[in-house]
Amino acid sequence: MPFSEIVGSLSESPTLKVTQRVNELKAMGVKVLSFGAGEPDFDTPDYIKQAAIEALNNGKTRYTTASGIPELKDAVIRKLEHDNGLKGYTRKNILISSGAKHALWNAVFTILNPDDEAIVFAPYWVSYTEQIKTAEARSVIVPCHAENHFEPRMEDIEASVTAKTRLILLNTPNNPTGAVYTKKFIKELARFCRERSIWVISDEIYEKLIYDSKKHYSIAKYLPEKTIVINGVSKAYAMTGWRIGYVAGPEWIIKKMAMLQGQITSCPNSIAQYASLAAIQGDGSDIEYMRAAFEERRDYMVERLNTIPGIHCKKPSGAFYVFPEIREAVEKMGMRGADELVEYLLEKSSVAAVSGTAFGAEGFLRLSYATSLEEIKEGLDKIESLLK
Ligand code: PMP
Ligand code: GLU
Repeated sequence: MPFSEIVGSLSESPTLKVTQRVNELKAMGVKVLSFGAGEPDFDTPDYIKQAAIEALNNGKTRYTTASGIPELKDAVIRKLEHDNGLKGYTRKNILISSGAKHALWNAVFTILNPDDEAIVFAPYWVSYTEQIKTAEARSVIVPCHAENHFEPRMEDIEASVTAKTRLILLNTPNNPTGAVYTKKFIKELARFCRERSIWVISDEIYEKLIYDSKKHYSIAKYLPEKTIVINGVSKAYAMTGWRIGYVAGPEWIIKKMAMLQGQITSCPNSIAQYASLAAIQGDGSDIEYMRAAFEERRDYMVERLNTIPGIHCKKPSGAFYVFPEIREAVEKMGMRGADELVEYLLEKSSVAAVSGTAFGAEGFLRLSYATSLEEIKEGLDKIESLLK
């Protein structure tokens, strides 16, 4: 092989691949109705853009401290205390990275040794298993079930833990299921991990996108000594292209991650850090309209999907994805599985979605509702007429 075994073992991100395919088709003049993209369709709010322009005009164009600017760390500390009740963090507990994806990799690569095991709940976000491979560690998949609203069960976790288990990857609100884990589960998992000295990486990137009367609970509140919180500005503030995420955790591990980051990327983008400072310091009123729009779209989408024969869709409480079960619909069409349905939808109707298999769950489809209500209506009309 002309390249390393580790890189040879990785697969391409299927979610990014869908986005790329949609963009290619659009460039060719095809009108694609895209339920594929995992990013808000809104533009970054103006007050955030203004902060970036000011940073540029004020010459904030050099390397920053490898671990990020102190002002942004302070804003993150205040946010974690105010929104999540996480007290006691200082600047030494915070690392600013180039997106939550990079923040996650910093954490995974700092914690795992070759042959360690990391528990990943399926359906899982596509990058967890691949990032674990970069550390030559092994993912142990623990399935979650639609009947349990895709929340993991403690008995399944207990059955999967071995002497090699070093880490559990937690993601609530969840991509791809939209599940928001209950306080009861979070507390039980914290107790379990403390007893066995297992690390938790808690990916909370969809925290602000939560509906109905549901609440987000950070496991760091119950397990601060073993939790690495991952969050960022991509989803809540419509800032996916700015590439800023952050980590909060015990001081000594953050120090190691900052050292790693310093060797790999020097520091996150300076201008984007100042823009993220404005975003996090905002009072939230400038982003509430996005959350409210997502909620309306979710309601519409779930209702419509459940009227289509062969599709069963639970109503998720967070993120901007629905994860319907499509087994019966696939069987009726005489297809082999969700992958074939996804290809068929794109080819016949120019509707883009992601197959559940990308997330370790055959028989499901991920549909993102981070697209306008008109497009959602049009896309669902097409899915309906194709499946009927
Ligand atoms: N975690 C999850 C669950 C995600 O869906 C995403 C979206 N790309 C990320 C992390 C990474 O977000 P970003 O790197 O854009 O901050
Ligand atoms: N997280 C998004 C998604 O799941 C963006 C794509 C990616 O980063 O892989 O679609």
